[in-house]
Amino acid sequence: MTQTLVLGRPKKARAQECDDAGGPPPDVHAAVRLALAETDVRRFALGALEQLALLLDVPWQGLVCAAPDGRPGEARVLAAQGRYAHWLERPLTQLPEPLLRTLLADALTRGTSVQDATGRMALFIGRPGTGGMVVLLDAPGASAARRPDWRLLDAFCANLGLLLHSRGLLERLHEQAYKDPLLSLPNRARFIEKVDECVNRGLQGHILALVDIDDFSATNDVMGHRFGDRLLEVVARRLGDALPPGVLLARVGADTFGVLGPVGQVAPQRLLDSVGQPLAVEAVPHKVSLTCGWVLLGEGGGSGVDQVKDATIALKRAKRDHRGQHLQYLAHMGAEARARALLLSDLRAAIERQQLFLVYQPQLDLRTGALIGLEALLRWRCEDGRFIPPAQFIPVAEHSGLIVALGEWVLATACRTMRELLDAGRAPLRMAVNVSMAQLQDAGFAATARRALAEAGIEARHLELEITESVAVLPTDFLEATLQTLRAEGVSIAIDDFGTGYSSLSYLERLPLDRIKIDRSFVRQLGEPRGARIAEMVAQLGRRLGLAVLAEGIEDEVACGALQAMGCHEGQGFHLAMPMDKAALDGWLQARA
Ligand code: C2E
Ligand code: MG
Ligand code: MG
Repeated sequence: MTQTLVLGRPKKARAQECDDAGGPPPDVHAAVRLALAETDVRRFALGALEQLALLLDVPWQGLVCAAPDGRPGEARVLAAQGRYAHWLERPLTQLPEPLLRTLLADALTRGTSVQDATGRMALFIGRPGTGGMVVLLDAPGASAARRPDWRLLDAFCANLGLLLHSRGLLERLHEQAYKDPLLSLPNRARFIEKVDECVNRGLQGHILALVDIDDFSATNDVMGHRFGDRLLEVVARRLGDALPPGVLLARVGADTFGVLGPVGQVAPQRLLDSVGQPLAVEAVPHKVSLTCGWVLLGEGGGSGVDQVKDATIALKRAKRDHRGQHLQYLAHMGAEARARALLLSDLRAAIERQQLFLVYQPQLDLRTGALIGLEALLRWRCEDGRFIPPAQFIPVAEHSGLIVALGEWVLATACRTMRELLDAGRAPLRMAVNVSMAQLQDAGFAATARRALAEAGIEARHLELEITESVAVLPTDFLEATLQTLRAEGVSIAIDDFGTGYSSLSYLERLPLDRIKIDRSFVRQLGEPRGARIAEMVAQLGRRLGLAVLAEGIEDEVACGALQAMGCHEGQGFHLAMPMDKAALDGWLQARA
């Protein structure tokens, strides 16, 4: 029975929608009986909306909003239908129509039902003064042609109001609004409110810390969500045990906890140490590490939300550079984060305005001067003609994940250029494309690469992927598998910027590789005394491993000669050819023909 109320309008109501002549009157008592069975406040709200529409004989189009504790300032939309559907869960204060906001707030504060000039009705359900909910319905006909029977409406609303209170539904709303159901900890909304309280009272010497479980989503994926839930519970318990009573512990994100308390009682390192000993999760010992970003309240000022934002900036940075450690928020971090955010939004706009394009830098055989490849390089030219260097915007694109879509475009465009060159009979052996770690970690990468090849109609052997050492050293089977498959299909793989990663070289044996690119910092030293040692070593290493070696950044004849003398026969650099846009490349190729 309950389901009828929730899941759909009863058949009778649907019939009435079409039959304006009116059918049998709605069975109000049945509706109340149905609502009686409801224990969930949102389902109750949806049921009330439906039954009131039925009673008024108006389309089922409206919304219901209510506030925990009956505080109208915090009211949210609990149920919404028709043109209001996308307002679900929005705070009343953020609804886009000011008149509607006033109407709803008016009904909630006064605890009475009201109607505006356009016929919209805000019907109050509850007890004035102790909170309740307001059902809003578009009832244009109700104001003129068919006046509502207010007595019947009032009685109906009063009945629903009794149910609302006797079943403690509003109290549950409060709980739902402020408590995390899994961990029974205060949630993000509550946490921010508490930080706000602290800020408003001008409390000094308080610390706000955000603690995040490292690699939680990977654990969740591998071990399953049930395990993930248990892990969260155990970590929450450990954190709770590490804090004296009175310090607030909240769950503010999927795997992020918020801690708020006096400096003397909250030590970030103690929070991290709380998981020093392995945790028993479903009787399995499990080792986790935590990362923490924290801020001293009252230093930078700002509201609770601002302070949480600052701690989030510190947390993100710690995640990136100091995993398993804690980091305090400092003002310059905010400035940097804002600059990055600005650059990111500019980059998004630039992509839309098609301000990004590719240039191609030739890779030559140093002995014969023959063209062996082209490296595709991204360029961003602003409206004023200024170029933003890739070294600036690529990291931002990587950090935000935008690189996945951007990289897909680069692959597709570079492959299309290769097709055109093949058609013109001027193509080199391959087109080299740079790929970032975020792209390779994306499950769809191999498919993306295949699609780019297929859509351009070129063979896999025409494509080379350049990955940096930092990607290569990632101990992921997934990366290995992705590269193995693509290479088996004919794509070649090059290690870019070789020698700059300061890492163990074991990946050279583990990964399927074709080529090493000597970083230009080593090529630049070739003119200096003893400057050739690293380049020499790389050339030798490549030969031993049976890999081709290509030198980047060749800027003069000296370097060119030195490289050849050490057996490095492939090169790329301003001395040989600049990176060129499509038109310039066509000219360059034509001139060589
Ligand atoms: P990279 O892959 O090592 O690219 C070679 C860089 O060296 C390019 O800088 C190129 O313009 C520059 N270069 C070439 N010859 C010379 C030379 O003789 N002297 C000097 N000093 N530099 C030379 P660019 O285009 O600024 O790119 C910088 C980096 O940005 C690239 O380094 C690559 O890591 C990244 N990048 C560029 N395009 C893409 C892309 O489409 N996707 C990804 N993921 N990264 C890209
Ligand atoms: Mg490269
Ligand atoms: Mg490079």
